[in-house]
Amino acid sequence: MIFHLLIMTLVTFPLSSNGGKWTYDGPDGEPQWSRNYPYCGGAFQSPINFQPELLRFDPDLLPIQLQDYNLSSEEQLTLSNNGHSVQLSLPSRMHLSGLPHRYSAAQLHFHWGSSNTPTGSEHTINGKQFAAEMHLVHFNSAKYHNISQAVDKSDGLAVLGVFIEVGEFNPAFDRFLKFIKGIKYNGQKLQVAGFNIRELLPTRLDEYYRYDGSLTTPPCYPSVLWTVFRNPVSISLRQYLALATALLSSHPQEAATVPLVGNYRKPQQMDSRVVLASFQQSDFTWSWGAIFGFILLASGLGILSIITFICCFLKKRLTKQT
Ligand SMILES: [Zn+2]
Repeated sequence: MIFHLLIMTLVTFPLSSNGGKWTYDGPDGEPQWSRNYPYCGGAFQSPINFQPELLRFDPDLLPIQLQDYNLSSEEQLTLSNNGHSVQLSLPSRMHLSGLPHRYSAAQLHFHWGSSNTPTGSEHTINGKQFAAEMHLVHFNSAKYHNISQAVDKSDGLAVLGVFIEVGEFNPAFDRFLKFIKGIKYNGQKLQVAGFNIRELLPTRLDEYYRYDGSLTTPPCYPSVLWTVFRNPVSISLRQYLALATALLSSHPQEAATVPLVGNYRKPQQMDSRVVLASFQQSDFTWSWGAIFGFILLASGLGILSIITFICCFLKKRLTKQT
């Protein structure tokens, strides 16, 4: 019974707020969220754009440590369509260590573009938007009993963000994508067998961005310690299209069918925040400013060498003559 209640809490989490209807498009779209959910118009919001000049390298940021992520196939996970995303419930014994508190897993879900425009990540790197983004939501279980209690607390949540690009086929994602047609309508759910959740994450867990932000959906509580991995994972075009075309945000009884696409929020203001990076940026980007500066410096040095050469030549000749 307790387990059942817990599952219900996790599945309904994105809808657990008491405010009104919200969507990504139309009259209840993003610019209107703050009418019913004031935090959405407040400070420390997510997602953000990771601008190279706003990053600060922090050598003390250690690799993320995932505990009990390898789930047995005996374990049943609930895959659901909540009208805003596809969500997979996760058992709370899965947790993160190496953070200021112990954070237990609750669920993972996705944000994506459409079949025509495979650009649907929420965070961006220097303006680059990826095809999709996965969020693994954890709550501070050292301080709070469950996610509902933690969701609005400043130290309540820790979310891992993973960029997804279209490329190689990813067998780990097929563990649940192969069932996605079974949850076409809002409110539908089914059970899938547990698997190693680590396989959904990038190989390198030591390179990431870290900052204080918020839920990217209403009620937008600024309660999230964000860890967004630098390196994306790949899924095939076929897998991306399964995600981007299988779901509807409408209920089965509704006359109008509304495709569940473009479920990403645009980047928010930085509000004097600093983004820490666990890695040093080695890939220097050749912006036009940098190229112009380099040409200017090279020409300056060239002119200086020519002047020095002429001076030396004249000095030698003068010495010879005297
Ligand atoms: Zn999310």
